[in-house]
Amino acid sequence: MVSQTKGKAIALIFIAGPCSIESEKQFLTIAKAVKAAGATHLRGGAFKPRTNPESFQGHGHDILHVLKKAKKLTKLPIVSEILDTEDINSAAPHIDIIQIGTRNMHNTTLLKKIAQRQSLKPILLKRGFAATKKELLGAIAYLKQHGHKAQIYICERGIRTFADGEYSRYTLDVNLIADLKTDPTFPYPILVDPSHPAGRSDLVESLSYAGIAAGADGLIIEVSMSPFIEHALSDKEQQITPNVLKRIINNCQKIKKITS
Ligand code: PEP
Ligand code: MN
Repeated sequence: MVSQTKGKAIALIFIAGPCSIESEKQFLTIAKAVKAAGATHLRGGAFKPRTNPESFQGHGHDILHVLKKAKKLTKLPIVSEILDTEDINSAAPHIDIIQIGTRNMHNTTLLKKIAQRQSLKPILLKRGFAATKKELLGAIAYLKQHGHKAQIYICERGIRTFADGEYSRYTLDVNLIADLKTDPTFPYPILVDPSHPAGRSDLVESLSYAGIAAGADGLIIEVSMSPFIEHALSDKEQQITPNVLKRIINNCQKIKKITS
């Protein structure tokens, strides 16, 4: 059995949007398009954790007002990352689900402070790209122990193995998804981010299907469109178009039906 929810109707979660929010026009255009394609939530980063300090770091506080506009326009909840404890209280009112990124899964200070200060706000916790299952469960325990009471979504976004740009960026660990979905003591929804392990838009579709077939409850996926995609300031190569998103959503519903 792939899923604990066998036999029940399952509403999959599809969180979609650009890697970074680059302008109001860019985010609102993409927001409308992903909603039309069937997305259930919007994603977009204002605070970006980049490998190189010279890379675009996100517009930060200056762009947060655009999140509220996009929510008003689409009526979709907003998922966005908070990187720094200093930004928790000022950024949280603009966000419906706080994303804790892969690099911060081990940041116990950030975990504690988000749990304490935003105890009623849902969290999307990404698995560290070199984290064991025990370490992932430890990060969840930090949130719970420091008073977090709302929904926590876990996200598998690829781990570091031998793939380092040659054919993908990270390795999507479908084993962990299958394992957690058959673990009766693990009550959290599991999402898959196919974009960051793929590193290339043409691999995103296959990884999405692999994740859902392994039992995932939904996807968080990077989507952009012309003329923004050609000039994207982060993760340009891995963003898919709204048309591809629509096909992925359709096929994922079918896969879920036959594997549940
Ligand atoms: C992101 O979702 O844009 C992101 C930076 O993800 P991760 O933390 O998985 O690298
Ligand atoms: Mn990204």
